[in-house]
Amino acid sequence: MAMQKVLIVFAHQSAGSFNAAAKDVTVEVLTAQGCKVEVSDLYAMKFKPSATADDVTGEVKDAEHFRYGEETMLAWKEGRLSADLVEEQRKIFDAHVVIFQFPMYWFTVPAIMKGWIDRVLTMGFAFTSEQRYSQGVFKEKKAMLSFTTGSQESMFSSNGINGDMNVTLWPLQNGILHYCGFQVLAPQIFWAPHHVSSEARSTMLEMWRTRLQGLLGETPLSFTPSDSFDCERGFLLKEDVEEMHKSADVGLTVGIHLGKRIPLNSQTKAGV
Ligand SMILES: Cc1cc2nc3c(=O)[nH]c(=O)nc-3n(C[C@H](O)[C@H](O)[C@H](O)COP(=O)(O)OP(=O)(O)OC[C@H]3O[C@@H](n4cnc5c(N)ncnc54)[C@H](O)[C@@H]3O)c2cc1C
Repeated sequence: MAMQKVLIVFAHQSAGSFNAAAKDVTVEVLTAQGCKVEVSDLYAMKFKPSATADDVTGEVKDAEHFRYGEETMLAWKEGRLSADLVEEQRKIFDAHVVIFQFPMYWFTVPAIMKGWIDRVLTMGFAFTSEQRYSQGVFKEKKAMLSFTTGSQESMFSSNGINGDMNVTLWPLQNGILHYCGFQVLAPQIFWAPHHVSSEARSTMLEMWRTRLQGLLGETPLSFTPSDSFDCERGFLLKEDVEEMHKSADVGLTVGIHLGKRIPLNSQTKAGV
């Protein structure tokens, strides 16, 4: 296999954190495998999280009614994006695999990472209306979430107080990663490192180390292919596809559930 390039988008303020330890293990194991690993350490970089007109250089198309999506697409085409965005886009372009390492904040990524997503994954560069989901721009690349929680695993189960983690992950994994075409690897979830013993934390890092040995060969999560939807009917599921699933007990995915039970663990484990 040709040398694999890996980008880690890392969001934690402290080098002494569990997230930093997880990121360091990733760098160490993948580098030892012969991968070229780059890290975007967002807090250290003081990455600007807000999507503003400063992200384009030169004349904006419509200063009176600035539209971020349209303006950044044009700027991307014309080479007028700000230097920090150009550099992050270069890192994604080069990478075969992108790993997002972060502590869960409010059921999602920290604001600085959401800012990276808002600003770096610009229209044109990361998606177009023709190139999205299984036809997406990054369909040859893989991406995954690796994150810590404050909550115990049981709290994010289907009868736990936070609700099913598979539902929580759908917007991030389907609405961002898969939307841009990435093959999404199952997430690595480090449950409540702050609340467990030091031995349990070491075991979590060891398990991650073991998973990393085979990570690049893992089967991604499955999503409904784009050609199952009818663009002539507002991208509804094609009638014949829906008909095929009529008698099934479970829906296609967490989001495209057809009013049925959602498939168990489909956002947390591959092959389900
Ligand atoms: C704004 C905000 C919103 C939040 N929202 C949510 C939410 O929606 N859901 C939720 O579940 N949680 C939430 N949390 C909690 C948050 O997700 C956790 O605090 C975080 O994930 C813990 O990860 P950490 O890396 O910061 O842990 P740390 O506190 O840095 O580390 C945990 C422990 O690991 C130790 N450690 C560090 N390195 C190593 C190593 N190499 N080996 C062994 N141990 C090590 C540390 O010393 C520490 O004792 C939120 C927190 C904030 C601040």
